[in-house]
Amino acid sequence: MIHGDDENTPLTDSGKPAAIATATSPQAPPPDRKYLLERVDDAAVAQLYADGFSSLPLDQKILIWHLYQAALAGRDIYYDQRYAHNLEMREVLEQILTHAERVDPATLAEIHRYTKLFWLNTGPHNNLTARKFVLKCAPEAFRDAARAAAVSGAAFPLRCGETLDALLTRMQPLFFEPGVDTIVTNKTPGPGKDILASSANNLYVGVSMKDLDSFQEKHQLNSRIVKTDGRIVEEVYRIGGKYDKEIRAIVGHLEAAIPYATPTMATALGALIRFYETGLDVDRIAYDIAWVQDKSSPVDTINGFVEVYMDPRGMKGAWEALVFYVNREKTEGIRRLAASAQWFEDRMPWAPQYRKDGVRGITANAIDVVVESGDSGPITPVGINLPNDQDIREKYGSKSVSLTNVNEAYDKSTSAEFRREFAWSPEEAERAERWSSVASELTTDLHEVIGHASGKIAEHLKGSPQSFLKEQYSALEESRADLVALYFLPDPKMVELGLINAADHNEIVHAEYEGYARNALVQLRRIREGTQIEEDHMRNRQMIVQWLLANSSAIEVRRRDGKTYYAMVDATAFQEAVGRLLAEVQRIKAEGDYAAAKALFETYGVHFDAALRDEVVARVEHLNMPSYTGFV
Ligand SMILES: [Zn+2]
Repeated sequence: MIHGDDENTPLTDSGKPAAIATATSPQAPPPDRKYLLERVDDAAVAQLYADGFSSLPLDQKILIWHLYQAALAGRDIYYDQRYAHNLEMREVLEQILTHAERVDPATLAEIHRYTKLFWLNTGPHNNLTARKFVLKCAPEAFRDAARAAAVSGAAFPLRCGETLDALLTRMQPLFFEPGVDTIVTNKTPGPGKDILASSANNLYVGVSMKDLDSFQEKHQLNSRIVKTDGRIVEEVYRIGGKYDKEIRAIVGHLEAAIPYATPTMATALGALIRFYETGLDVDRIAYDIAWVQDKSSPVDTINGFVEVYMDPRGMKGAWEALVFYVNREKTEGIRRLAASAQWFEDRMPWAPQYRKDGVRGITANAIDVVVESGDSGPITPVGINLPNDQDIREKYGSKSVSLTNVNEAYDKSTSAEFRREFAWSPEEAERAERWSSVASELTTDLHEVIGHASGKIAEHLKGSPQSFLKEQYSALEESRADLVALYFLPDPKMVELGLINAADHNEIVHAEYEGYARNALVQLRRIREGTQIEEDHMRNRQMIVQWLLANSSAIEVRRRDGKTYYAMVDATAFQEAVGRLLAEVQRIKAEGDYAAAKALFETYGVHFDAALRDEVVARVEHLNMPSYTGFV
């Protein structure tokens, strides 16, 4: 499980096209095409383009078509996993929106707003804060809207014998009460509270962590655990099991895709179908291996129960699908980085016993996505490294992708005022303007290609550090990958590999370090309620910056005109301290030191000052900047 890296909403003010861009694209897109489609509250909706698609050979286009259908076929699995009431809520909303002629315009506008956020976040819980958002109209107005839609022919998901009014009464708390099912994933519910019971997702029903002490699960990644009448049952996600209908549809499209795939990809798709049929871990392993061994297909897909961020235990996979093709020109630079994996491993700033010999099989592609669904869309990662199974990674390597057209759309839909507001000096703002895109793409590549693939863990963990580090694992692993990237960015190897020009190197390092420090401040805008960070990548970045503030002279907290700044003042000290922290983070992972991981994040990564957040939110609102972006 490592992660699928969602640099979800990339590094605050990052973005931009090619770090490692080479020649200009053969068919350049029109310069004025639209990226930012609209704003909904603190969300932006941006348009993705898949420019290379039209020049692909016909068989690859047909392959993509079938895989695209498979991606859509599983979308509702994720809706249901995220929240048991999601599909019913969506049906109610969409019935109103598609039968809206008689609905009061003000109420309709509010239902539009809410539904757009619902679609972007796959349900009523914010993707970043994990907290519930609600309809802001009066319940009576919503009731009137539903009745008006019914008059126009809307068919609501009524239960047997239920009236529309009864349905609306039953569902009112879901749409209107923030205190009902408040947090979708709650890893830190407070003393004495259970992380499963405190989380509103649908991965566990009636089960507490204590129940699981004496329960041996057979399908760690692909099951839901349900307790009924004191008995615990695993509902396995497979044909004939949970999500049978959706999985059958996915398998049908995958079967249609196979004739158009390369032989290695056809083998992988066959193994995936087998896993969907049996749900057995042995078939999941066979699929992971077949998938990672297909390294050269021009088209690829990720389809299944993959990332574990939504589960407070960090075990259950959320369903997702991506379909993509390789962006050849940008892939060349990443390949050079991947080919040097052992060089980096030999120079990791951690104890020699944690260095791996013969780092193998690292494949890195710059890709353009054609569709992302489930856990990976519309809010998308910018880089992915899979499979998550540590054992397979060590034996067979992993595949990394950088989502080029996502980065492009993110950057083109972001404004420069943002950088100016949080930069301490005009020089810093200019540096960000000029270099942050290059710096962040290179850092993302280092994070994925070198960071996650690196390091060795102690024998006694039996290849599974996550079962020792539990809810701390994902944030720790993301920290490790970020630290590797930050540590090596100033290395002359970057120039030697042709990834950046020697003359620009210093500026690029400064731009990245400054941006990283700023981000710890700016990211607080995403958490409008509470004073704690839940999302793993946000925890990781907060932890690193707060640790550097406490343990180095690299960053200073400064104030001017009532505004706070995190000013990066010493890049040498920054890199040196990153090396120290990285050595400790690697030790924690390698030894499965849960207590140390928990202490690290509790001290530096989870809690923040509400007054500081309020200040940041006020500054962002003044600029009218989005907190996150959904891509369509
Ligand atoms: Zn990552």
